[in-house]
Amino acid sequence: MLGKRSTKPRTIAQRTLKGPIACTGTGLHSGRKVEMLLLPAAPNHGIVFRRRDIPGENGVLKADFRNVRDTRMCSMLANDAGTRIGTVEHLMAALYGAEIDNLTVELDADEVPVMDGSSAPFLFLVDCAGTIEQAAPRRAIEVLEPVTIEDGDARITLAPGAGFAAEFEIDFKNAAIGRQTIRMGLEPGAFRREIARARTFGFEHEVASLRAMGLARGGSLDNAVVVSGERILNEDGLRFEDEFVRHKILDLVGDFYLAGAPILGDVRATRTGHRHNNALLHALLARPEAWRWTEMTAETYAGALADARLGHASD
Ligand SMILES: [Zn+2]
Repeated sequence: MLGKRSTKPRTIAQRTLKGPIACTGTGLHSGRKVEMLLLPAAPNHGIVFRRRDIPGENGVLKADFRNVRDTRMCSMLANDAGTRIGTVEHLMAALYGAEIDNLTVELDADEVPVMDGSSAPFLFLVDCAGTIEQAAPRRAIEVLEPVTIEDGDARITLAPGAGFAAEFEIDFKNAAIGRQTIRMGLEPGAFRREIARARTFGFEHEVASLRAMGLARGGSLDNAVVVSGERILNEDGLRFEDEFVRHKILDLVGDFYLAGAPILGDVRATRTGHRHNNALLHALLARPEAWRWTEMTAETYAGALADARLGHASD
């Protein structure tokens, strides 16, 4: 019998930026101008935020799900010194899409700028700077046993599966949104093509009460889809027919990337948000039998695409 040579799939290296790059934008909740600087970082450094206005260790915040404190409107990181950084999820989703493992994110305020309400401007920024491979293997978190979070009519399950795929369903009484479902493979290329441009959304009737709570002060038609009654107020309409559910996937991808590495598994979510995404990571990573570290290869995402289909349904 002829011996069959088994070729081990090539492992993938960690990545960081080729050089620093900066941008300026508005804080979604504070409404203030924010400067953000992205800097290359060493292998195994992870994604780390640093507040330029708070010196020393007190201003440092690791992008880690255990540091998430407030999930009311966005995913906010906080440390024991009381330092906070809000609205990290759209940037984290972009870093997932750009396959960046190591980065220092410097900010001069307590929020990541909202840009256009999606991940696309951050991906553009990273692509402008370029990325380089580093001398360390890229690792992922492989799901071995299903984990579920249930909360009223909201439910999210993360189960073992090839690559990373998600099914998401939202169901709003509002006719402009309605019921939307999507199921798709979420390898970084698919995220870039199908999800990264989907913007955050809100309702006009909620704006006054949010502002009274000190939230959404920087929110405008430039950085969110705004729904009023059954109408979309944005002049140019939607970027995708089902932009709302696609943005829910974007938030999920960003929240999951706070695990510290890509997650390999199959997600099914109904009406969930930041709070549930974070609770799911806590539930998964607290159970050593439910997951393991695995080195990523060129074939890591190959299996997910065969089964996943992209589609939506609206009532
Ligand atoms: Zn969002």
